[in-house]
Amino acid sequence: MQGTVGGSWRPCTALLHQSGFRVAKGLGFARFSSFPDLHRRWYRSHVREDVRRCGVCSSVWDQRDMKKLGVGFEAWRERLPRRELLSTVVAGRRSVLHELQSLRNDEADYSGQIEYESPLQVVLYPDPRLRAKNKIINVFDEKLQQLVQEMFDIMYKTDGVGLAAPQVGVNVRLMVYNPVGERGQGEEYVLVNPQIVKYGKNQDVFAEGCLSFPTFGSDPKKAPTIEADVERPKSVRVEAQDIKGKKFAMTLKEWQARIFQHEYDHLEGTLYFDRMSPEVLDSIQLDLKKLEELYEQRTGLPAPEKISNRK
Ligand SMILES: [Zn+2]
Repeated sequence: MQGTVGGSWRPCTALLHQSGFRVAKGLGFARFSSFPDLHRRWYRSHVREDVRRCGVCSSVWDQRDMKKLGVGFEAWRERLPRRELLSTVVAGRRSVLHELQSLRNDEADYSGQIEYESPLQVVLYPDPRLRAKNKIINVFDEKLQQLVQEMFDIMYKTDGVGLAAPQVGVNVRLMVYNPVGERGQGEEYVLVNPQIVKYGKNQDVFAEGCLSFPTFGSDPKKAPTIEADVERPKSVRVEAQDIKGKKFAMTLKEWQARIFQHEYDHLEGTLYFDRMSPEVLDSIQLDLKKLEELYEQRTGLPAPEKISNRK
Protein backbone atom coordinates (compact mmCIF):
# COMPACT_ATOMS: atom_id res chain seq x y z
CA MET A 1 0.00 0.00 0.00
CA GLN A 2 1.72 3.15 -1.17
CA GLY A 3 0.74 6.78 -1.09
CA THR A 4 3.64 9.15 -1.00
CA VAL A 5 3.24 12.88 -0.68
CA GLY A 6 6.33 14.94 -0.04
CA GLY A 7 7.92 11.90 1.54
CA SER A 8 5.14 11.28 4.01
CA TRP A 9 2.64 8.46 4.02
CA ARG A 10 -1.02 9.23 4.42
CA PRO A 11 -3.65 6.59 5.07
CA CYS A 12 -6.24 8.53 3.13
CA THR A 13 -4.22 8.49 -0.07
CA ALA A 14 -3.53 4.81 0.18
CA LEU A 15 -7.04 3.94 1.15
CA LEU A 16 -8.79 5.95 -1.49
CA HIS A 17 -6.25 5.60 -4.24
CA GLN A 18 -6.73 1.88 -4.09
CA SER A 19 -10.47 1.99 -4.10
CA GLY A 20 -10.81 4.98 -6.43
CA PHE A 21 -13.44 6.76 -4.39
CA ARG A 22 -13.84 9.48 -1.84
CA VAL A 23 -16.68 10.66 0.34
CA ALA A 24 -18.48 13.65 -1.13
CA LYS A 25 -20.48 16.19 0.78
CA GLY A 26 -23.03 14.04 2.58
CA LEU A 27 -24.11 12.40 -0.67
CA GLY A 28 -22.07 9.32 -1.20
CA PHE A 29 -18.96 8.74 -3.21
CA ALA A 30 -17.47 10.76 -5.99
CA ARG A 31 -15.05 9.33 -8.45
CA PHE A 32 -11.74 10.92 -9.26
CA SER A 33 -9.02 10.29 -11.75
CA SER A 34 -5.74 11.20 -10.17
CA PHE A 35 -5.75 10.98 -6.45
CA PRO A 36 -2.06 11.47 -5.73
CA ASP A 37 -2.15 14.60 -7.87
CA LEU A 38 -5.21 15.88 -6.10
CA HIS A 39 -3.65 15.23 -2.74
CA ARG A 40 -0.46 16.99 -3.70
CA ARG A 41 -2.43 20.03 -4.79
CA TRP A 42 -4.26 20.15 -1.52
CA TYR A 43 -1.07 19.58 0.38
CA ARG A 44 0.64 22.55 -1.20
CA SER A 45 -2.30 24.89 -0.90
CA HIS A 46 -3.11 26.76 2.24
CA VAL A 47 -5.97 25.54 4.28
CA ARG A 48 -9.05 27.42 3.15
CA GLU A 49 -12.59 27.97 4.20
CA ASP A 50 -14.09 25.18 2.20
CA VAL A 51 -11.85 22.47 3.53
CA ARG A 52 -13.74 19.46 4.76
CA ARG A 53 -12.90 16.18 6.36
CA CYS A 54 -12.90 12.87 4.60
CA GLY A 55 -15.68 10.93 6.29
CA VAL A 56 -13.77 7.70 6.02
CA CYS A 57 -10.33 8.42 7.35
CA SER A 58 -10.68 11.95 8.77
CA SER A 59 -8.14 13.52 6.43
CA VAL A 60 -8.98 17.02 5.36
CA TRP A 61 -9.84 17.72 1.74
CA ASP A 62 -10.34 20.81 -0.30
CA GLN A 63 -13.49 20.88 -2.39
CA ARG A 64 -12.13 23.58 -4.67
CA ASP A 65 -9.23 21.38 -5.72
CA MET A 66 -11.66 18.60 -6.45
CA LYS A 67 -13.56 20.94 -8.74
CA LYS A 68 -10.44 22.13 -10.49
CA LEU A 69 -9.73 18.58 -11.50
CA GLY A 70 -13.29 18.17 -12.70
CA VAL A 71 -14.07 15.40 -10.31
CA GLY A 72 -16.87 17.02 -8.34
CA PHE A 73 -19.75 14.84 -7.34
CA GLU A 74 -22.29 16.80 -9.38
CA ALA A 75 -20.28 16.49 -12.58
CA TRP A 76 -19.89 12.83 -12.11
CA ARG A 77 -23.56 12.29 -11.35
CA GLU A 78 -24.63 13.90 -14.61
CA ARG A 79 -22.58 11.48 -16.65
CA LEU A 80 -24.07 8.35 -15.19
CA PRO A 81 -27.62 6.96 -15.25
CA ARG A 82 -29.12 6.87 -11.78
CA ARG A 83 -29.14 3.11 -11.48
CA GLU A 84 -25.52 2.74 -12.42
CA LEU A 85 -24.69 5.56 -10.09
CA LEU A 86 -26.33 3.87 -7.17
CA SER A 87 -24.60 0.56 -7.74
CA THR A 88 -21.27 2.34 -8.10
CA VAL A 89 -21.87 4.21 -4.89
CA VAL A 90 -22.68 1.02 -3.06
CA ALA A 91 -19.68 -0.78 -4.52
CA GLY A 92 -17.49 2.19 -3.67
CA ARG A 93 -18.71 2.31 -0.13
CA ARG A 94 -18.09 -1.41 0.31
CA SER A 95 -14.67 -1.11 -1.20
CA VAL A 96 -13.69 1.80 1.04
CA LEU A 97 -15.04 0.11 4.14
CA HIS A 98 -13.18 -3.03 3.26
CA GLU A 99 -9.96 -1.10 2.81
CA LEU A 100 -10.58 0.76 6.03
CA GLN A 101 -11.04 -2.51 7.83
CA SER A 102 -7.79 -3.90 6.51
CA LEU A 103 -6.08 -0.64 7.39
CA ARG A 104 -7.40 -0.85 10.93
CA ASN A 105 -6.15 -4.39 11.20
CA ASP A 106 -2.71 -3.51 9.93
CA GLU A 107 -0.53 -3.81 12.99
CA ALA A 108 2.22 -1.88 11.28
CA ASP A 109 0.17 1.28 11.82
CA TYR A 110 0.27 0.97 15.61
CA SER A 111 3.11 1.77 17.93
CA GLY A 112 2.87 -1.10 20.42
CA GLN A 113 5.13 -0.35 23.36
CA ILE A 114 7.21 2.65 22.40
CA GLU A 115 10.95 2.15 22.03
CA TYR A 116 13.36 5.03 22.40
CA GLU A 117 16.80 5.84 23.73
CA SER A 118 17.55 8.31 26.52
CA PRO A 119 18.66 10.99 26.60
CA LEU A 120 16.54 12.24 23.72
CA GLN A 121 18.09 14.43 21.08
CA VAL A 122 16.37 16.86 18.77
CA VAL A 123 16.44 15.60 15.20
CA LEU A 124 17.48 18.28 12.73
CA TYR A 125 16.36 18.93 9.15
CA PRO A 126 16.81 17.13 6.73
CA ASP A 127 16.80 13.98 8.88
CA PRO A 128 14.43 11.47 7.23
CA ARG A 129 12.71 10.80 10.58
CA LEU A 130 11.04 14.19 10.19
CA ARG A 131 9.32 12.84 7.06
CA ALA A 132 8.65 9.29 8.22
CA LYS A 133 5.20 7.93 8.94
CA ASN A 134 4.15 8.34 12.57
CA LYS A 135 2.37 5.42 14.19
CA ILE A 136 -0.85 5.55 16.16
CA ILE A 137 -0.17 5.07 19.87
CA ASN A 138 -2.07 2.11 21.28
CA VAL A 139 -0.10 1.33 24.45
CA PHE A 140 -0.58 3.82 27.28
CA ASP A 141 1.99 2.72 29.81
CA GLU A 142 4.86 4.07 31.92
CA LYS A 143 7.13 4.12 28.91
CA LEU A 144 4.83 6.65 27.27
CA GLN A 145 4.74 8.76 30.45
CA GLN A 146 8.54 8.69 30.59
CA LEU A 147 8.78 9.75 26.98
CA VAL A 148 6.41 12.67 27.61
CA GLN A 149 8.49 13.82 30.60
CA GLU A 150 11.70 13.65 28.60
CA MET A 151 10.08 15.54 25.74
CA PHE A 152 9.08 18.34 28.12
CA ASP A 153 12.62 18.35 29.56
CA ILE A 154 14.25 18.77 26.18
CA MET A 155 11.62 21.29 25.07
CA TYR A 156 12.31 23.56 28.05
CA LYS A 157 16.06 23.08 27.73
CA THR A 158 15.99 24.21 24.10
CA ASP A 159 13.60 27.12 24.75
CA GLY A 160 10.77 25.62 22.75
CA VAL A 161 7.03 25.97 23.33
CA GLY A 162 6.10 22.71 21.60
CA LEU A 163 7.64 19.45 20.50
CA ALA A 164 6.41 16.53 18.41
CA ALA A 165 7.72 12.99 18.96
CA PRO A 166 9.26 12.64 15.46
CA GLN A 167 11.46 15.64 16.38
CA VAL A 168 13.19 13.45 18.93
CA GLY A 169 13.36 10.57 16.47
CA VAL A 170 10.35 8.69 17.85
CA ASN A 171 7.88 8.20 15.01
CA VAL A 172 4.60 8.12 16.92
CA ARG A 173 1.58 10.45 16.99
CA LEU A 174 2.40 12.40 20.14
CA MET A 175 3.00 16.06 20.87
CA VAL A 176 3.61 18.16 23.96
CA TYR A 177 3.43 21.91 24.38
CA ASN A 178 3.32 24.71 26.91
CA PRO A 179 2.22 28.08 25.50
CA VAL A 180 4.50 29.88 27.99
CA GLY A 181 7.48 27.62 27.37
CA GLU A 182 8.83 27.85 30.94
CA ARG A 183 8.77 25.03 33.46
CA GLY A 184 6.41 25.81 36.32
CA GLN A 185 4.61 28.49 34.31
CA GLY A 186 1.69 28.22 31.93
CA GLU A 187 0.06 24.87 31.36
CA GLU A 188 1.46 21.63 29.97
CA TYR A 189 -0.51 19.91 27.22
CA VAL A 190 -0.02 16.32 26.10
CA LEU A 191 -1.88 15.20 22.99
CA VAL A 192 -1.82 11.58 21.90
CA ASN A 193 -3.16 10.67 18.43
CA PRO A 194 -4.55 14.18 17.85
CA GLN A 195 -6.90 15.02 14.96
CA ILE A 196 -8.11 18.34 13.63
CA VAL A 197 -11.88 18.14 13.24
CA LYS A 198 -12.57 21.74 12.24
CA TYR A 199 -10.66 24.76 11.01
CA GLY A 200 -11.65 28.34 11.85
CA LYS A 201 -12.52 30.63 8.94
CA ASN A 202 -9.96 33.35 9.61
CA GLN A 203 -6.27 33.05 8.84
CA ASP A 204 -3.30 34.90 10.19
CA VAL A 205 0.38 35.10 9.42
CA PHE A 206 3.07 34.62 12.04
CA ALA A 207 6.86 34.14 11.99
CA GLU A 208 7.34 30.58 13.23
CA GLY A 209 10.51 28.89 14.38
CA CYS A 210 11.19 25.17 14.76
CA LEU A 211 13.62 23.33 17.03
CA SER A 212 14.59 21.09 14.11
CA PHE A 213 15.83 24.16 12.23
CA PRO A 214 18.53 25.82 14.38
CA THR A 215 20.70 28.71 13.20
CA PHE A 216 23.61 27.68 15.52
CA GLY A 217 23.97 31.18 16.93
CA SER A 218 26.69 32.02 14.43
CA ASP A 219 25.08 35.40 13.86
CA PRO A 220 23.99 37.05 17.14
CA LYS A 221 21.41 39.13 15.28
CA LYS A 222 19.65 35.98 14.17
CA ALA A 223 17.01 34.07 16.13
CA PRO A 224 18.14 30.70 17.59
CA THR A 225 15.97 28.91 15.03
CA ILE A 226 15.13 29.79 11.43
CA GLU A 227 12.07 32.00 11.63
CA ALA A 228 9.74 32.85 8.77
CA ASP A 229 6.11 33.68 8.05
CA VAL A 230 3.53 30.92 7.83
CA GLU A 231 -0.17 31.48 7.19
CA ARG A 232 -2.58 29.31 9.16
CA PRO A 233 -6.18 29.28 10.42
CA LYS A 234 -6.53 31.23 13.65
CA SER A 235 -8.51 28.51 15.40
CA VAL A 236 -8.93 24.75 15.26
CA ARG A 237 -11.19 22.21 16.90
CA VAL A 238 -9.14 19.26 18.06
CA GLU A 239 -9.80 15.72 19.25
CA ALA A 240 -7.10 13.68 20.97
CA GLN A 241 -6.34 11.20 23.72
CA ASP A 242 -4.60 12.02 26.97
CA ILE A 243 -1.62 10.18 28.39
CA LYS A 244 -3.92 7.51 29.82
CA GLY A 245 -5.74 7.03 26.51
CA LYS A 246 -8.87 8.95 27.49
CA LYS A 247 -10.47 10.87 24.61
CA PHE A 248 -11.06 14.61 24.82
CA ALA A 249 -11.83 17.55 22.55
CA MET A 250 -10.98 21.23 22.73
CA THR A 251 -11.05 24.37 20.64
CA LEU A 252 -7.72 26.15 20.32
CA LYS A 253 -7.31 29.79 19.37
CA GLU A 254 -4.55 32.21 18.42
CA TRP A 255 -1.17 31.23 19.91
CA GLN A 256 -2.24 27.76 21.04
CA ALA A 257 -3.83 27.05 17.68
CA ARG A 258 -0.58 28.15 16.06
CA ILE A 259 1.58 25.87 18.22
CA PHE A 260 -0.78 22.93 17.84
CA GLN A 261 -0.95 23.18 14.05
CA HIS A 262 2.83 23.41 13.76
CA GLU A 263 3.29 20.28 15.90
CA TYR A 264 0.39 18.49 14.21
CA ASP A 265 2.14 19.06 10.89
CA HIS A 266 5.17 17.21 12.26
CA LEU A 267 2.94 14.20 12.93
CA GLU A 268 1.89 14.31 9.29
CA GLY A 269 5.50 14.56 8.08
CA THR A 270 4.93 18.17 7.05
CA LEU A 271 7.52 20.81 7.89
CA TYR A 272 6.76 24.49 8.33
CA PHE A 273 8.65 25.55 5.23
CA ASP A 274 6.31 23.34 3.15
CA ARG A 275 3.65 25.93 3.99
CA MET A 276 5.66 29.05 3.22
CA SER A 277 5.01 31.22 0.19
CA PRO A 278 7.71 31.03 -2.52
CA GLU A 279 8.99 34.50 -1.52
CA VAL A 280 9.28 33.61 2.15
CA LEU A 281 10.89 30.30 1.31
CA ASP A 282 13.44 32.16 -0.83
CA SER A 283 14.39 34.27 2.16
CA ILE A 284 15.47 31.22 4.21
CA GLN A 285 16.88 29.13 1.36
CA LEU A 286 20.50 29.68 2.42
CA ASP A 287 19.80 28.67 6.02
CA LEU A 288 18.14 25.46 4.83
CA LYS A 289 21.07 24.70 2.52
CA LYS A 290 23.42 25.16 5.46
CA LEU A 291 21.47 22.55 7.46
CA GLU A 292 21.61 20.18 4.49
CA GLU A 293 25.41 20.57 4.29
CA LEU A 294 25.79 20.01 8.04
CA TYR A 295 23.66 16.88 7.80
CA GLU A 296 25.93 15.51 5.07
CA GLN A 297 29.06 16.29 7.10
CA ARG A 298 27.61 14.77 10.25
CA THR A 299 26.28 11.56 8.73
CA GLY A 300 28.43 11.09 5.64
CA LEU A 301 25.18 10.52 3.75
CA PRO A 302 23.61 12.61 1.01
CA ALA A 303 20.81 14.86 2.28
CA PRO A 304 17.54 12.95 1.74
CA GLU A 305 15.87 16.14 0.53
CA LYS A 306 17.21 19.40 -0.83
CA ILE A 307 15.52 22.73 -0.96
CA SER A 308 17.17 23.43 -4.32
CA ASN A 309 15.32 20.44 -5.81
CA ARG A 310 11.93 21.96 -5.08
CA LYS A 311 10.03 23.63 -7.85
ZN1 LIG B 1 8.74 22.20 14.41
